[in-house]
Amino acid sequence: MPTPITTIRRVSELRVLVAGWRKADHTVGLVPTMGALHEGHLALVRQAKADCRRVIVTLFVNPTQFGPNEDLAAYPRNEAADRDKVAALGADALFAPGVEEMYGPDAATTVSVAGLTEHLCGPFRPGHFAGVATVVTKLLLQSLPDAAYFGEKDFQQLQVIRRLARDLDIPVRIVGVPTVRDADGLALSSRNAYLSAEERRDAAAMPRMLTAIAGHLAQHPDDVGGQVAWGREALRAAGFGKIDYVEVCDSETLQPVSRVSGPARVFAAAWLGRTRLIDNMPVQR
Ligand code: AMP
Repeated sequence: MPTPITTIRRVSELRVLVAGWRKADHTVGLVPTMGALHEGHLALVRQAKADCRRVIVTLFVNPTQFGPNEDLAAYPRNEAADRDKVAALGADALFAPGVEEMYGPDAATTVSVAGLTEHLCGPFRPGHFAGVATVVTKLLLQSLPDAAYFGEKDFQQLQVIRRLARDLDIPVRIVGVPTVRDADGLALSSRNAYLSAEERRDAAAMPRMLTAIAGHLAQHPDDVGGQVAWGREALRAAGFGKIDYVEVCDSETLQPVSRVSGPARVFAAAWLGRTRLIDNMPVQR
């Protein structure tokens, strides 16, 4: 039986709960998610629980980070199962607010992070990172945790959040957690549930391609152009349709590089049928 966990719907209740913990000198970790939790999310919860006395998992499908033609309505939701999963790991609270609790009808303020959002997913998902940055800023200010946990699976998002916390002087440690993968290398994602059996098999070509490029560039740092062209071809050959990007970028600035001379990662986003998959891997040098 999972241990009891408090489900909270209101920001005011969240503040009271955290204030009590602070008074008792308990450290607090925050794990923001959109639910439909899998082992990737649970790795964040485990890390938070290892670092902090108290852990809050947030569950909020944030409408402002979805574009008009994206999968907001179809996004998988299963609060009861999510609650049991995080309770079993010892999380202390589930913060699951409604949309109206998070956004007043006259909400007019947006957090946007320049530069880091110019490349990779930025141009393909207009407004997405502003939606993410705004909701994460709100969650951080609502809960004022010691640390907040995000996956390297969404590496651009992780860097955007690190930057907004720094630029806005939010006193929180942003912790990146390595990507959790299935046995064939596919990064776990709530969106993998959309894949047919055949698409699921083809999807493993993405991590295979990223691993190959990361390995090749470690030996041949000048061959970025050739590797990117090969990577696009490899995805196409495996059955991917539209390829949004295959890029090699500086790990800090996320600006594309033409040769690898410092910390860099290989990034990809591409469509399998109606499902958009993203992933990234570091070049080990
Ligand atoms: P989401 O529910 O997709 O918004 O993801 C919530 C958090 O879980 C984000 O910080 C993601 O980067 C992280 N996450 C999602 N999938 C994985 C994964 N396979 N491994 C590690 N972290 C993940």
